[in-house]
Amino acid sequence: MGQLHVFFFPMMAYGHMIPILDMAKLFASRGVKATIITTPANQPVFSKAVDKYTQLEIRLLEFPGVEVGLPESCQRHDQIPAADNGLLRFFKACAMLQPSLEDLLQELRPNCLVADMLFPWATNVAAKFDIPRLIFHGTSYLALCAVNSLRIHKPFNNVTSDLELFNIPNLPHELKLTKLQVSPFERGEVENPKLEFMRGLRESEETSYGAIFNSFYELEPDYAEHYKNVLGIRAWSVGPLSLYNRDLEDKAQRGKKSAIDENECLEWLDSKNPHSVVYMCFGSFANFAPSQLHEMAMGIEASGMDFVWVIRNKREEDNGSEKWMPKGFEERTKRKGLIIRGWAPQVLILDHEAAGAFVTHCGWNSILEAVCAGVPMVTWPLFAEQFVNEKLMTDILQTGIGVGSKEWKILDNDGVKKEAIAEAIKKVMISEESEEMRSRAKTMKDKAKKAIEEGGSSYLDFNSLLDELRAYRAKH
Ligand code: UDP
Repeated sequence: MGQLHVFFFPMMAYGHMIPILDMAKLFASRGVKATIITTPANQPVFSKAVDKYTQLEIRLLEFPGVEVGLPESCQRHDQIPAADNGLLRFFKACAMLQPSLEDLLQELRPNCLVADMLFPWATNVAAKFDIPRLIFHGTSYLALCAVNSLRIHKPFNNVTSDLELFNIPNLPHELKLTKLQVSPFERGEVENPKLEFMRGLRESEETSYGAIFNSFYELEPDYAEHYKNVLGIRAWSVGPLSLYNRDLEDKAQRGKKSAIDENECLEWLDSKNPHSVVYMCFGSFANFAPSQLHEMAMGIEASGMDFVWVIRNKREEDNGSEKWMPKGFEERTKRKGLIIRGWAPQVLILDHEAAGAFVTHCGWNSILEAVCAGVPMVTWPLFAEQFVNEKLMTDILQTGIGVGSKEWKILDNDGVKKEAIAEAIKKVMISEESEEMRSRAKTMKDKAKKAIEEGGSSYLDFNSLLDELRAYRAKH
Protein backbone atom coordinates (compact mmCIF):
# COMPACT_ATOMS: atom_id res chain seq x y z
CA MET A 1 0.00 0.00 0.00
CA GLY A 2 1.27 3.46 -0.85
CA GLN A 3 1.67 6.43 1.40
CA LEU A 4 -1.43 7.94 3.03
CA HIS A 5 -2.29 11.40 1.79
CA VAL A 6 -4.36 13.87 3.84
CA PHE A 7 -5.75 17.29 2.86
CA PHE A 8 -5.87 19.99 5.57
CA PHE A 9 -8.18 22.91 4.98
CA PRO A 10 -8.24 25.41 7.86
CA MET A 11 -10.46 28.44 8.19
CA MET A 12 -8.40 31.48 7.25
CA ALA A 13 -7.91 32.72 10.81
CA TYR A 14 -4.67 32.56 12.79
CA GLY A 15 -6.34 30.61 15.61
CA HIS A 16 -7.21 27.89 13.06
CA MET A 17 -4.27 28.01 10.61
CA ILE A 18 -1.64 27.77 13.36
CA PRO A 19 -2.90 24.52 14.94
CA ILE A 20 -3.75 22.98 11.55
CA LEU A 21 -0.20 23.65 10.38
CA ASP A 22 1.09 21.95 13.52
CA MET A 23 -1.28 19.07 12.84
CA ALA A 24 -0.06 18.75 9.26
CA LYS A 25 3.51 18.67 10.59
CA LEU A 26 2.52 15.85 12.93
CA PHE A 27 1.06 13.80 10.07
CA ALA A 28 4.10 14.55 7.92
CA SER A 29 6.48 13.53 10.69
CA ARG A 30 4.76 10.12 10.75
CA GLY A 31 5.20 9.50 7.04
CA VAL A 32 1.85 10.82 5.80
CA LYS A 33 1.81 13.17 2.83
CA ALA A 34 0.11 16.37 3.99
CA THR A 35 -1.36 18.98 1.64
CA ILE A 36 -2.48 22.27 3.11
CA ILE A 37 -5.18 24.17 1.26
CA THR A 38 -5.42 27.92 1.63
CA THR A 39 -5.79 31.17 -0.30
CA PRO A 40 -2.91 33.15 -1.82
CA ALA A 41 -2.79 35.88 0.84
CA ASN A 42 -2.46 33.26 3.58
CA GLN A 43 0.37 31.35 1.96
CA PRO A 44 3.08 33.05 4.11
CA VAL A 45 1.64 31.42 7.25
CA PHE A 46 2.70 28.06 5.84
CA SER A 47 5.57 28.69 3.46
CA LYS A 48 8.47 28.32 5.93
CA ALA A 49 7.17 24.98 7.16
CA VAL A 50 6.56 23.76 3.61
CA ASP A 51 10.19 24.54 2.74
CA LYS A 52 11.37 22.65 5.81
CA TYR A 53 9.23 19.50 5.85
CA THR A 54 9.45 17.40 2.71
CA GLN A 55 6.11 15.61 3.20
CA LEU A 56 4.30 18.94 3.41
CA GLU A 57 2.95 20.83 0.42
CA ILE A 58 0.60 23.70 -0.12
CA ARG A 59 -2.11 24.26 -2.73
CA LEU A 60 -3.84 27.58 -3.26
CA LEU A 61 -7.44 28.39 -4.09
CA GLU A 62 -8.32 31.84 -5.43
CA PHE A 63 -10.60 33.55 -2.91
CA PRO A 64 -13.73 35.04 -4.53
CA GLY A 65 -14.12 37.77 -1.89
CA VAL A 66 -14.62 40.57 -4.39
CA GLU A 67 -17.42 38.64 -6.07
CA VAL A 68 -19.43 38.76 -2.84
CA GLY A 69 -18.65 42.42 -2.19
CA LEU A 70 -15.70 42.10 0.19
CA PRO A 71 -12.65 44.33 -0.17
CA GLU A 72 -9.88 42.73 -2.22
CA SER A 73 -7.54 42.70 0.78
CA CYS A 74 -9.95 40.61 2.89
CA GLN A 75 -8.87 36.97 2.94
CA ARG A 76 -8.72 36.38 6.67
CA HIS A 77 -11.22 36.29 9.49
CA ASP A 78 -9.72 39.30 11.32
CA GLN A 79 -9.99 41.35 8.11
CA ILE A 80 -13.74 40.93 7.74
CA PRO A 81 -15.53 44.31 7.84
CA ALA A 82 -18.02 44.52 10.70
CA ALA A 83 -20.52 46.42 8.56
CA ASP A 84 -22.66 45.15 5.73
CA ASN A 85 -22.94 41.54 6.84
CA GLY A 86 -19.22 41.04 6.32
CA LEU A 87 -19.18 37.73 8.17
CA LEU A 88 -21.92 36.18 6.04
CA ARG A 89 -20.28 37.42 2.86
CA PHE A 90 -17.01 35.89 3.98
CA PHE A 91 -18.63 32.51 4.62
CA LYS A 92 -20.38 32.75 1.28
CA ALA A 93 -17.05 33.32 -0.44
CA CYS A 94 -15.63 30.32 1.45
CA ALA A 95 -18.49 28.13 0.21
CA MET A 96 -17.71 29.29 -3.33
CA LEU A 97 -14.35 27.56 -2.98
CA GLN A 98 -16.12 24.22 -3.27
CA PRO A 99 -15.65 23.65 -7.07
CA SER A 100 -11.93 24.48 -6.92
CA LEU A 101 -11.50 22.20 -3.91
CA GLU A 102 -13.24 19.43 -5.83
CA ASP A 103 -10.89 19.96 -8.78
CA LEU A 104 -7.95 19.55 -6.43
CA LEU A 105 -9.40 16.41 -4.88
CA GLN A 106 -9.95 15.03 -8.38
CA GLU A 107 -6.36 15.80 -9.32
CA LEU A 108 -4.59 14.56 -6.18
CA ARG A 109 -7.03 11.93 -4.83
CA PRO A 110 -6.07 12.14 -1.14
CA ASN A 111 -7.36 9.58 1.38
CA CYS A 112 -8.88 12.00 3.89
CA LEU A 113 -10.05 15.60 4.16
CA VAL A 114 -9.48 17.39 7.46
CA ALA A 115 -11.61 20.50 7.10
CA ASP A 116 -12.53 23.29 9.43
CA MET A 117 -15.88 23.23 11.21
CA LEU A 118 -16.66 26.54 9.51
CA PHE A 119 -16.74 24.76 6.12
CA PRO A 120 -19.89 22.68 6.62
CA TRP A 121 -20.13 21.89 2.90
CA ALA A 122 -16.82 19.98 3.09
CA THR A 123 -18.62 16.87 4.36
CA ASN A 124 -20.53 16.48 1.10
CA VAL A 125 -17.42 17.21 -0.91
CA ALA A 126 -15.55 14.39 0.84
CA ALA A 127 -18.53 12.07 0.30
CA LYS A 128 -18.34 12.68 -3.47
CA PHE A 129 -14.81 11.32 -3.43
CA ASP A 130 -15.65 8.57 -0.97
CA ILE A 131 -13.11 9.70 1.60
CA PRO A 132 -13.64 10.47 5.30
CA ARG A 133 -14.08 14.11 6.28
CA LEU A 134 -12.67 14.85 9.71
CA ILE A 135 -13.89 18.02 11.29
CA PHE A 136 -11.53 20.39 13.08
CA HIS A 137 -13.21 22.68 15.60
CA GLY A 138 -10.11 24.32 17.01
CA THR A 139 -11.59 24.31 20.49
CA SER A 140 -12.05 22.17 23.60
CA TYR A 141 -14.30 19.17 24.11
CA LEU A 142 -15.73 21.07 27.04
CA ALA A 143 -16.82 23.99 24.84
CA LEU A 144 -18.63 21.71 22.39
CA CYS A 145 -20.33 19.76 25.18
CA ALA A 146 -21.42 23.00 26.85
CA VAL A 147 -22.76 24.51 23.64
CA ASN A 148 -24.69 21.32 22.98
CA SER A 149 -26.25 21.51 26.42
CA LEU A 150 -27.10 25.21 26.08
CA ARG A 151 -28.73 24.52 22.74
CA ILE A 152 -30.88 21.70 24.02
CA HIS A 153 -31.84 23.01 27.46
CA LYS A 154 -31.67 26.80 27.00
CA PRO A 155 -31.16 27.34 30.74
CA PHE A 156 -30.71 31.09 30.15
CA ASN A 157 -34.43 31.30 29.48
CA ASN A 158 -35.19 30.41 33.11
CA VAL A 159 -33.34 33.29 34.77
CA THR A 160 -34.84 36.54 35.94
CA SER A 161 -31.87 38.74 35.10
CA ASP A 162 -28.99 38.80 32.63
CA LEU A 163 -26.52 38.51 35.49
CA GLU A 164 -28.13 35.62 37.37
CA LEU A 165 -25.94 32.54 37.39
CA PHE A 166 -27.37 29.31 35.99
CA ASN A 167 -25.90 25.85 35.74
CA ILE A 168 -25.08 24.37 32.32
CA PRO A 169 -27.27 21.23 32.55
CA ASN A 170 -26.17 17.62 32.30
CA LEU A 171 -22.42 18.14 32.27
CA PRO A 172 -19.96 16.18 34.43
CA HIS A 173 -19.28 19.30 36.54
CA GLU A 174 -21.44 22.06 37.89
CA LEU A 175 -20.42 25.00 35.69
CA LYS A 176 -22.18 28.32 35.94
CA LEU A 177 -22.63 31.12 33.43
CA THR A 178 -24.83 34.16 33.09
CA LYS A 179 -27.01 34.91 30.10
CA LEU A 180 -24.69 37.74 29.07
CA GLN A 181 -21.80 35.29 28.82
CA VAL A 182 -23.62 33.08 26.32
CA SER A 183 -23.10 33.92 22.66
CA PRO A 184 -26.00 35.59 20.82
CA PHE A 185 -25.95 32.60 18.45
CA GLU A 186 -26.80 30.20 21.27
CA ARG A 187 -29.28 32.66 22.77
CA GLY A 188 -31.02 32.69 19.40
CA GLU A 189 -30.59 36.44 19.12
CA VAL A 190 -29.23 36.53 15.59
CA GLU A 191 -31.30 36.86 12.46
CA ASN A 192 -32.08 34.08 10.07
CA PRO A 193 -29.21 33.70 7.60
CA LYS A 194 -26.82 33.37 10.56
CA LEU A 195 -29.08 30.88 12.36
CA GLU A 196 -29.31 28.88 9.15
CA PHE A 197 -25.53 28.84 8.93
CA MET A 198 -25.26 27.63 12.53
CA ARG A 199 -27.71 24.82 11.79
CA GLY A 200 -25.56 23.81 8.85
CA LEU A 201 -22.49 23.65 11.09
CA ARG A 202 -24.29 21.34 13.50
CA GLU A 203 -25.52 19.05 10.77
CA SER A 204 -22.11 18.74 9.24
CA GLU A 205 -20.67 17.83 12.65
CA GLU A 206 -23.25 15.08 12.97
CA THR A 207 -22.71 13.71 9.47
CA SER A 208 -18.92 13.90 9.35
CA TYR A 209 -16.79 10.82 9.79
CA GLY A 210 -15.51 12.16 13.08
CA ALA A 211 -13.67 15.03 14.73
CA ILE A 212 -10.00 15.62 15.36
CA PHE A 213 -9.09 17.62 18.47
CA ASN A 214 -6.20 19.76 19.51
CA SER A 215 -6.50 18.48 23.07
CA PHE A 216 -5.25 15.57 25.15
CA TYR A 217 -7.20 13.10 27.20
CA GLU A 218 -5.75 14.02 30.61
CA LEU A 219 -6.72 17.68 30.19
CA GLU A 220 -10.47 17.16 29.92
CA PRO A 221 -11.18 13.41 30.24
CA ASP A 222 -14.81 13.81 31.35
CA TYR A 223 -15.60 15.95 28.35
CA ALA A 224 -13.76 13.78 25.83
CA GLU A 225 -15.96 10.92 27.07
CA HIS A 226 -19.09 13.08 27.14
CA TYR A 227 -18.50 14.26 23.58
CA LYS A 228 -18.06 10.72 22.30
CA ASN A 229 -20.69 8.95 24.41
CA VAL A 230 -23.40 11.54 24.94
CA LEU A 231 -23.11 13.62 21.78
CA GLY A 232 -22.25 10.39 19.98
CA ILE A 233 -19.52 11.76 17.72
CA ARG A 234 -16.33 9.88 17.00
CA ALA A 235 -13.27 11.84 18.03
CA TRP A 236 -9.50 11.60 18.23
CA SER A 237 -7.25 13.78 20.41
CA VAL A 238 -3.84 14.45 18.93
CA GLY A 239 -2.65 17.47 20.92
CA PRO A 240 -1.32 19.61 22.34
CA LEU A 241 -0.21 20.44 18.82
CA SER A 242 2.05 23.35 19.74
CA LEU A 243 4.41 20.81 21.31
CA TYR A 244 5.39 19.59 17.87
CA ASN A 245 7.34 22.83 17.44
CA ARG A 246 10.62 21.95 19.02
CA ASP A 247 13.22 24.36 17.69
CA LEU A 248 13.51 28.07 18.31
CA GLU A 249 12.58 29.03 14.77
CA ASP A 250 9.38 26.96 14.76
CA LYS A 251 8.39 28.25 18.19
CA ALA A 252 9.11 31.87 17.39
CA GLN A 253 7.47 32.16 14.00
CA ARG A 254 3.95 30.90 14.31
CA GLY A 255 1.31 32.68 12.29
CA LYS A 256 3.48 35.57 11.24
CA LYS A 257 6.80 37.19 11.90
CA SER A 258 7.10 38.72 15.34
CA ALA A 259 7.13 42.47 15.80
CA ILE A 260 10.15 42.06 18.08
CA ASP A 261 13.46 40.36 17.46
CA GLU A 262 13.23 36.99 19.23
CA ASN A 263 16.67 37.27 20.75
CA GLU A 264 15.95 40.72 22.13
CA CYS A 265 12.81 39.35 23.70
CA LEU A 266 14.63 36.36 25.18
CA GLU A 267 17.43 38.57 26.54
CA TRP A 268 14.88 40.76 28.28
CA LEU A 269 13.26 37.69 29.84
CA ASP A 270 16.68 36.30 30.80
CA SER A 271 17.23 39.41 32.90
CA LYS A 272 14.18 38.56 35.05
CA ASN A 273 13.72 36.07 37.88
CA PRO A 274 11.87 32.79 37.38
CA HIS A 275 8.05 33.15 37.43
CA SER A 276 8.28 36.92 37.88
CA VAL A 277 6.81 38.19 34.61
CA VAL A 278 3.16 38.54 33.63
CA TYR A 279 2.51 37.95 29.92
CA MET A 280 -0.60 39.73 28.64
CA CYS A 281 -1.92 38.95 25.15
CA PHE A 282 -5.39 38.44 23.74
CA GLY A 283 -4.89 36.43 20.58
CA SER A 284 -5.24 37.50 16.99
CA PHE A 285 -8.75 38.90 16.94
CA ALA A 286 -9.82 40.68 20.11
CA ASN A 287 -10.60 44.37 19.96
CA PHE A 288 -10.81 46.52 23.08
CA ALA A 289 -12.33 49.93 23.62
CA PRO A 290 -9.68 52.61 24.27
CA SER A 291 -11.05 53.04 27.81
CA GLN A 292 -10.41 49.34 28.45
CA LEU A 293 -6.84 49.58 27.21
CA HIS A 294 -6.39 52.46 29.61
CA GLU A 295 -7.67 50.35 32.54
CA MET A 296 -5.44 47.52 31.42
CA ALA A 297 -2.35 49.71 31.62
CA MET A 298 -3.39 51.03 35.02
CA GLY A 299 -4.14 47.53 36.25
CA ILE A 300 -0.85 45.99 35.25
CA GLU A 301 1.00 48.93 36.79
CA ALA A 302 -1.01 48.67 40.01
CA SER A 303 -0.16 44.97 40.27
CA GLY A 304 3.48 45.97 40.69
CA MET A 305 4.60 43.03 38.54
CA ASP A 306 7.03 42.94 35.64
CA PHE A 307 5.20 42.36 32.38
CA VAL A 308 5.24 41.72 28.66
CA TRP A 309 2.19 43.34 27.11
CA VAL A 310 1.17 42.67 23.54
CA ILE A 311 -0.79 45.55 22.10
CA ARG A 312 -2.48 44.62 18.88
CA ASN A 313 -5.08 47.23 18.39
CA LYS A 314 -6.47 47.99 15.02
CA ARG A 315 -8.95 50.63 16.03
CA GLU A 316 -9.38 53.18 13.30
CA GLU A 317 -10.29 56.10 15.54
CA ASP A 318 -7.14 55.46 17.51
CA ASN A 319 -5.02 55.47 14.40
CA GLY A 320 -2.02 54.14 16.28
CA SER A 321 -1.86 57.30 18.39
CA GLU A 322 -2.51 55.40 21.65
CA LYS A 323 -4.23 58.40 23.21
CA TRP A 324 -5.66 56.01 25.78
CA MET A 325 -2.22 55.27 27.23
CA PRO A 326 -1.97 56.72 30.78
CA LYS A 327 0.35 59.74 30.92
CA GLY A 328 3.94 58.75 31.62
CA PHE A 329 3.08 55.02 31.70
CA GLU A 330 5.88 53.83 29.47
CA GLU A 331 8.45 56.00 31.19
CA ARG A 332 7.42 54.82 34.65
CA THR A 333 7.37 51.15 33.67
CA LYS A 334 10.48 51.25 31.49
CA ARG A 335 12.37 48.76 33.64
CA LYS A 336 9.42 46.61 34.53
CA GLY A 337 7.68 46.23 31.24
CA LEU A 338 8.24 45.17 27.67
CA ILE A 339 5.56 46.31 25.25
CA ILE A 340 5.26 44.45 21.96
CA ARG A 341 3.20 46.30 19.39
CA GLY A 342 1.94 43.74 16.91
CA TRP A 343 2.69 40.03 16.85
CA ALA A 344 4.55 38.40 19.74
CA PRO A 345 6.52 35.14 19.77
CA GLN A 346 3.98 33.78 22.25
CA VAL A 347 5.17 30.21 22.71
CA LEU A 348 8.74 31.37 23.19
CA ILE A 349 7.64 33.79 25.91
CA LEU A 350 5.38 31.33 27.72
CA ASP A 351 8.08 28.66 27.61
CA HIS A 352 10.63 30.97 29.25
CA GLU A 353 11.19 30.30 32.94
CA ALA A 354 10.57 33.98 33.73
CA ALA A 355 6.90 33.62 32.71
CA GLY A 356 4.81 33.65 35.86
CA ALA A 357 1.25 34.21 34.65
CA PHE A 358 -0.61 34.62 31.40
CA VAL A 359 -3.42 37.17 31.17
CA THR A 360 -5.43 35.54 28.39
CA HIS A 361 -8.74 35.80 26.56
CA CYS A 362 -9.00 31.99 26.83
CA GLY A 363 -8.66 31.29 23.11
CA TRP A 364 -8.14 27.55 22.98
CA ASN A 365 -4.66 27.76 21.43
CA SER A 366 -3.51 30.23 24.05
CA ILE A 367 -4.84 28.02 26.83
CA LEU A 368 -3.06 24.97 25.47
CA GLU A 369 0.17 26.86 25.01
CA ALA A 370 0.04 28.02 28.63
CA VAL A 371 -0.81 24.49 29.79
CA CYS A 372 2.22 23.15 27.89
CA ALA A 373 4.40 25.78 29.53
CA GLY A 374 3.00 25.13 33.03
CA VAL A 375 2.01 28.79 33.37
CA PRO A 376 -1.07 29.66 35.49
CA MET A 377 -3.58 32.04 33.99
CA VAL A 378 -5.49 35.21 34.66
CA THR A 379 -8.60 34.53 32.63
CA TRP A 380 -10.33 37.30 30.72
CA PRO A 381 -12.77 35.75 28.25
CA LEU A 382 -14.27 37.99 25.58
CA PHE A 383 -16.33 36.09 23.00
CA ALA A 384 -16.68 32.82 21.06
CA GLU A 385 -16.46 29.85 23.44
CA GLN A 386 -13.98 31.60 25.72
CA PHE A 387 -16.31 31.90 28.73
CA VAL A 388 -16.63 28.12 28.77
CA ASN A 389 -12.90 27.52 28.27
CA GLU A 390 -12.34 29.80 31.25
CA LYS A 391 -14.27 27.36 33.46
CA LEU A 392 -11.83 24.58 32.65
CA MET A 393 -8.97 26.64 34.06
CA THR A 394 -10.72 28.32 36.98
CA ASP A 395 -13.30 25.79 38.21
CA ILE A 396 -12.08 22.39 37.04
CA LEU A 397 -8.27 22.45 36.86
CA GLN A 398 -7.89 25.41 39.21
CA THR A 399 -4.88 26.84 37.46
CA GLY A 400 -6.47 30.18 36.73
CA ILE A 401 -8.28 33.08 38.33
CA GLY A 402 -10.76 35.26 36.47
CA VAL A 403 -10.76 39.05 36.19
CA GLY A 404 -14.54 38.89 36.24
CA SER A 405 -15.43 39.73 32.66
CA LYS A 406 -19.16 39.75 32.38
CA GLU A 407 -20.27 40.09 28.82
CA TRP A 408 -19.80 38.21 25.54
CA LYS A 409 -18.71 40.93 23.11
CA ILE A 410 -16.59 40.88 19.96
CA LEU A 411 -16.18 44.60 19.46
CA ASP A 412 -15.34 47.34 21.94
CA ASN A 413 -14.85 45.02 24.86
CA ASP A 414 -14.95 47.06 28.02
CA GLY A 415 -15.95 47.02 31.68
CA VAL A 416 -13.12 45.34 33.58
CA LYS A 417 -11.66 47.75 36.10
CA LYS A 418 -8.01 48.24 36.98
CA GLU A 419 -8.54 47.07 40.57
CA ALA A 420 -9.95 43.73 39.37
CA ILE A 421 -7.06 43.31 36.92
CA ALA A 422 -4.41 44.05 39.55
CA GLU A 423 -6.07 41.82 42.12
CA ALA A 424 -6.37 38.81 39.82
CA ILE A 425 -2.76 39.21 38.72
CA LYS A 426 -1.51 39.38 42.31
CA LYS A 427 -3.60 36.36 43.30
CA VAL A 428 -2.00 34.28 40.57
CA MET A 429 1.51 35.65 41.04
CA ILE A 430 2.11 36.21 44.75
CA SER A 431 -0.75 35.08 46.94
CA GLU A 432 -0.99 32.07 49.23
CA GLU A 433 -2.76 30.22 46.44
CA SER A 434 0.00 30.89 43.89
CA GLU A 435 2.29 28.02 44.82
CA GLU A 436 -0.49 25.47 44.68
CA MET A 437 -1.76 26.83 41.41
CA ARG A 438 1.74 26.75 39.93
CA SER A 439 2.25 23.22 41.11
CA ARG A 440 -1.05 22.08 39.54
CA ALA A 441 -0.05 23.84 36.31
CA LYS A 442 3.32 22.03 36.39
CA THR A 443 1.58 18.66 36.82
CA MET A 444 -0.60 19.37 33.79
CA LYS A 445 2.45 20.47 31.79
CA ASP A 446 4.09 17.10 32.51
CA LYS A 447 0.93 15.28 31.46
CA ALA A 448 0.81 17.30 28.23
CA LYS A 449 4.38 16.30 27.37
CA LYS A 450 3.69 12.65 28.16
CA ALA A 451 0.53 12.64 26.04
CA ILE A 452 2.45 13.12 22.79
CA GLU A 453 5.40 10.87 23.65
CA GLU A 454 5.51 7.29 22.43
CA GLY A 455 2.85 5.37 24.35
CA GLY A 456 1.08 8.57 25.52
CA SER A 457 -2.66 9.12 25.10
CA SER A 458 -2.45 11.42 22.07
CA TYR A 459 0.27 9.30 20.49
CA LEU A 460 -1.93 6.22 20.73
CA ASP A 461 -5.05 8.04 19.58
CA PHE A 462 -3.15 9.29 16.56
CA ASN A 463 -1.95 5.74 15.80
CA SER A 464 -5.48 4.42 15.94
CA LEU A 465 -6.64 7.20 13.61
CA LEU A 466 -3.91 6.31 11.10
CA ASP A 467 -4.87 2.63 11.31
CA GLU A 468 -8.45 3.55 10.68
CA LEU A 469 -7.64 5.74 7.69
CA ARG A 470 -5.55 2.93 6.21
CA ALA A 471 -8.35 0.43 6.77
CA TYR A 472 -10.85 2.84 5.17
CA ARG A 473 -8.64 3.22 2.15
CA ALA A 474 -8.25 -0.54 1.81
CA LYS A 475 -12.02 -1.05 1.90
CA HIS A 476 -12.98 1.70 -0.53
N1 UDP B 1 -0.34 34.43 18.69
C1 UDP B 1 1.00 34.74 18.62
N2 UDP B 1 1.37 36.02 18.82
C2 UDP B 1 0.49 37.01 19.10
C3 UDP B 1 -0.88 36.68 19.19
C4 UDP B 1 -1.26 35.39 18.99
O1 UDP B 1 1.84 33.86 18.35
O2 UDP B 1 0.91 38.15 19.28
C5 UDP B 1 -0.76 33.04 18.45
C6 UDP B 1 -0.98 32.28 19.74
O3 UDP B 1 0.22 31.70 20.16
C7 UDP B 1 -2.05 31.27 19.32
C8 UDP B 1 -2.84 31.99 18.25
O4 UDP B 1 -2.01 33.04 17.79
O5 UDP B 1 -1.43 30.14 18.76
C9 UDP B 1 -4.12 32.60 18.79
O6 UDP B 1 -5.08 31.59 18.97
P1 UDP B 1 -6.13 31.63 20.14
O7 UDP B 1 -6.99 30.42 19.98
O8 UDP B 1 -5.46 31.75 21.43
O9 UDP B 1 -6.93 32.97 19.93
P2 UDP B 1 -7.67 33.66 18.66
O10 UDP B 1 -6.65 34.45 17.95
O11 UDP B 1 -8.23 32.53 17.82
O12 UDP B 1 -8.71 34.50 19.31
